[in-house]
Amino acid sequence: MSISENAPGLGARTYERAYRRVLWPAWERLVRRRPTPQHLRFLEAMQWRSPDVIERYQLHALRALLTHAGEHVPYWRETFRRLAFDPREVRTREDLAALPVLTRDIVRERYVDLVDPVHGRLNVKKGTSGSTGVPLKFEYCLSSESWRQAVRIRAYSWSGYRPGLPVFYYWGLINERPTGAQGVKVVLDRVSKREVFVNSIRQDDAARRSALDQLRRMRPAAIVCFTQSCAQFARWILDRGLRDWDDIPVLCGAEAVLPADRAVLCQAFGPNVFETYGSRETMLMAAECEAHAGLHLSEENLLVEVAHADKAAPAGDTGDVLVTDLHNYGMPFIRYQNGDLARMAPPPAAGDRCACGRGLRKLERVEGRRADTLRDREGNPIPGIVFHVLLADGRQEIIRQFQAVQRARGDVVLRVVRGPHWSQERFDAVVRNLEGYLRGLPFQVEYTGSIAPSASGKLRTIIVEQT
Ligand SMILES: [Zn+2]
Repeated sequence: MSISENAPGLGARTYERAYRRVLWPAWERLVRRRPTPQHLRFLEAMQWRSPDVIERYQLHALRALLTHAGEHVPYWRETFRRLAFDPREVRTREDLAALPVLTRDIVRERYVDLVDPVHGRLNVKKGTSGSTGVPLKFEYCLSSESWRQAVRIRAYSWSGYRPGLPVFYYWGLINERPTGAQGVKVVLDRVSKREVFVNSIRQDDAARRSALDQLRRMRPAAIVCFTQSCAQFARWILDRGLRDWDDIPVLCGAEAVLPADRAVLCQAFGPNVFETYGSRETMLMAAECEAHAGLHLSEENLLVEVAHADKAAPAGDTGDVLVTDLHNYGMPFIRYQNGDLARMAPPPAAGDRCACGRGLRKLERVEGRRADTLRDREGNPIPGIVFHVLLADGRQEIIRQFQAVQRARGDVVLRVVRGPHWSQERFDAVVRNLEGYLRGLPFQVEYTGSIAPSASGKLRTIIVEQT
């Protein structure tokens, strides 16, 4: 069987082994010049160690980062001096609370002072899409890049994925058109990894047919997707009775996996649906393991806090996500408030671990991603998940699709596509319930035939427009 054949089985597995053991390490070392394979080996071993050992490593990496930031990065040098903060005295994760939160506004205003002048020229420069909020530019050093890759590969492997196995990406493709020498490397990467990218922005019938054909031809070992778009694709498959494949693990990114989405994804692709949580600024922060009970944090690369104001929130309470990027020396992000809300899982009883056996702490769940959190008149958060919980009914499809938009001046518009079991009476009851959560914000409903994904390819259910 040649390596170009995509059917799973002996050929695919043989290729996967050859790829993982020989091709990929050589590629990363010789062409990409990245130590990703070494990092991956380290991460694969670390995840099974005890929470104490993992914490010790994390604190060691944290002290090194803080020391570097205090010596080389103007913003942090100034902050540490003002607070008389000594990185060498950091003994616990809680010691970080002595430092202020790094907000997106500070990143914008103090950009130049946040970049290490020595790394500056070599840094990878990126930005978040401005599709719903205000765009944010940031950068990170090359060594952070290989940690990011290794962390992602490890988390994906919890679904059975291995580099070299065929992967079907159902993903937003804007900003995905690499050019020049970099483009050639990316294309070669994709061919050798046997990745197929299908643009999930296009959700018309012809695009879905073509995606379905590719999926059937390819028989991937995993699907990596934008959650909402893939859930819509799954509904379309189920409505037409088109499933003719065995179970395929589905790795959901970019958007939360809500119970109704999980249900249709499981029906269309099998029970192995994994939520992942990441952002462009720090990449994969947490991912679900095979126990499907919360998301393990990428603790060797990131220190994640969940906080109210800037103090740790008790486990099980929703708070702001603060993230410290342990290997980004080029533009140190320390206690960066990324705008998401999450809950930390309660610490397990002594000696207990996740059923999978890993020692990495977990997020119980991600409540709202940046653009998914509305604010009431007093500025208190209203997690967008409220809409999902109230509008989703597992048994009856009253609503086919919805999108809630909070305008900059505060009013909320709910766009609704009626479903096959539509009933005005039941919908009105839901709306009354919703109004309770919106605490007096002006609110109106608009009925529409369909809702298009945004320019970035996310089929956003919650949009918070910013001033
Ligand atoms: Zn686990």
